[in-house]
Amino acid sequence: MFDGIVLSHSHIDHAGFIPFIRSDIPFYASEGSLAILKAMEQTSYGFYEFLELKEKFKIRESKREKGKYIRDRDSSIRREIVSLKSDFKIGEFSFHFFPIDHSIVGATAYVIETQEGSIVYTGDIRFHDLLFVKFVELSLSRKKQR
Ligand SMILES: [Zn+2]
Repeated sequence: MFDGIVLSHSHIDHAGFIPFIRSDIPFYASEGSLAILKAMEQTSYGFYEFLELKEKFKIRESKREKGKYIRDRDSSIRREIVSLKSDFKIGEFSFHFFPIDHSIVGATAYVIETQEGSIVYTGDIRFHDLLFVKFVELSLSRKKQR
C-alpha cells in the first residue's frame, strides 16, 4: 500500500502514469504542476485523466428504456490531490519542497527527512539558474538544523 506520491513536475515522463494510480492514493504536486496537468487533461479529449478519473466500466439503467443498461459517461471520481502550500508529512516522513529550475513551470525538489537521515529528490533540474544554488543552500541549512 502506498501512502502518497510526490510529483516533481508535469513532464510526461514523470506524470504520464498518474492516470493508472488508484484514486485513493493522494498525490502531492505544486500549483504550477497541477495547472499544467489540468490543461493537459482538458485538451486531451479524455486521453489523459490526471485529476479526475472517469469510471469507464460503470453502467446504469437507461432513463429512456427500462431494462436496458448503458455505460455511464458522466460518472467520475476525483483524486485525492494535495497542492503544495507548506511542508507536509506522509506517514513518518517529513517533506520540505523547493521550486527548482527546469524547462517547465512548477518543477519542485524535495528534501525528505527520515529517522535514518535525509533524502534529496531533485526530479529533473538545470544547473544554470540560481534556484539550484538556493536549493542546495536550503537543503544544507535543513541538515544543520537537525
Ligand atoms: Zn523533465
